[in-house]
Amino acid sequence: MEHRVAIVGAGVSGLTCGVLFAERGYRTAIFAKETGQQTTSGAAAALWFPYDAEPTEKVIPSALHTYKVLVDLICHRADSPRRAKISHSGVSMIELRQFSRTGEIQIPDWAIPLGGSVIPNVTTFKSGFRLNVPLMDTTIYLDYLANRFIEAGGEVNTGVHFEKLEDVSPAFNRVINCAGIGARELVQDIDLEPHRGQIAIVPTVDNLSCAIVCDDPPLMYAIPRAHDCVFGGTNEISDNLDVDAAATSRIIDECARALKIEKPNVFAERVGLRPFRKSGVRLERDRLRDGRTVIHNYGHGGSGFTLSWGCAEKVFQIAHSATATQRR
Ligand SMILES: Cc1cc2nc3c(=O)[nH]c(=O)nc-3n(C[C@H](O)[C@H](O)[C@H](O)COP(=O)(O)OP(=O)(O)OC[C@H]3O[C@@H](n4cnc5c(N)ncnc54)[C@H](O)[C@@H]3O)c2cc1C
Repeated sequence: MEHRVAIVGAGVSGLTCGVLFAERGYRTAIFAKETGQQTTSGAAAALWFPYDAEPTEKVIPSALHTYKVLVDLICHRADSPRRAKISHSGVSMIELRQFSRTGEIQIPDWAIPLGGSVIPNVTTFKSGFRLNVPLMDTTIYLDYLANRFIEAGGEVNTGVHFEKLEDVSPAFNRVINCAGIGARELVQDIDLEPHRGQIAIVPTVDNLSCAIVCDDPPLMYAIPRAHDCVFGGTNEISDNLDVDAAATSRIIDECARALKIEKPNVFAERVGLRPFRKSGVRLERDRLRDGRTVIHNYGHGGSGFTLSWGCAEKVFQIAHSATATQRR
C-alpha cells in the first residue's frame, strides 16, 4: 500500500519533516492553523544552540545531527543542483559568544569537538566561551523550507484547525504530529508548558558581527542578521501572546548596556511560546483511535531549530520501521 503522510504543523518541525518525507518520495501534505511567520518558529532568534529542552542525552545527538545538515546547506551550496535556492536558505555561520554573569563558565563537553574555546580577558560579564554555530534567519529560512517542500511535490494546507488527530482525512495512513505548544489541546498533553519569549528587532548594530548570549538572569542576547539585529529576551511560564512594552524596554536597556551602545529604535516586537515538555521532547510512535499510526514530534522548548533535522530524521526512521513491521 502506498503511504500518504499528513503532517500537522507548519513551524520549523513540520516543515523540516515535510522536506524529508517529500524528498524521499512520500506523498506528503502539511495541515496547519498558521504557517511560517505566524507560528512560534517565526518569533525565534533561531541560533543553533541546545537551550531549554530535555533530556540532554536525547537532545545533544539530535542537535549535533542538525548542526551537520545546516553546515552542509552552507558548504555544499555551490555544487548543489538546487544552487540558487540553497544560497537563499537564510543559513549562515556566526561566532557565538556565550557569557556568564556569575562565575567561571563551563564549556559543555559537546562543544569541545566543535571548537569551543574560552574567551580570555572578559569585560562586562564574568567569563565566556566562543563557538561557531549556524544561524537561521527566520524571515528567509521558513520560506526556504516551505518552497523546498513544495518543489519536492508536497502540499501545504493552511487555516486548518484540528480538534483531535483523528480528524485528519482517512486518505492519509500516516500522521505526524508537529503541533508545538498546540499539542497541549490536540493530544491533551498536560506535560507541555508554555515558556513565553519576547524579542525586539532593531537595526543592524555597527561593528557587531558575533552573537552575544548570556543565559544567567536577566536572559540577554544580541544576534546580528543580514538586515537587522535580534535583541532578547525573556523566558517565563505564560500563555500571554501580547507584546509587553515594559519587557521590550528591559531588553533594549540590557542589550544596550552589554554592547555599550545607544539605545536603538525598535523595528518590531515578537512573542512566542516555547513548547517546553517537562518529561522531554516527545518523539515516538503511537496509534490513533481509528488504528492509524501517528508519530509525535513536539516539545522542543527553546531548541526547535537546533533539533529540527535530527528529530525529522528520527521521525522518518520510526515511520520506516513501522512500515517494515506491518509488511512482516
Ligand atoms: C523568543 C524565542 C526565541 C527562540 N530562539 C530559539 C533559538 O535561538 N534557537 C532554537 O533552536 N529555538 C529557539 N526558539 C524555540 C523555537 O522557536 C521552538 O522550539 C520552535 O519554533 C518549535 O517549532 P514547532 O514547529 O515544533 O512549533 P511551532 O512553530 O509552534 O508550530 C506549530 C504548528 O502547529 C500548528 N498547530 C498547532 N495546533 C494545531 C491544531 N490543533 N490544528 C492544526 N494546526 C495546529 C500551528 O499552527 C503551527 O503551524 C525560540 C523561541 C522563542 C519564543
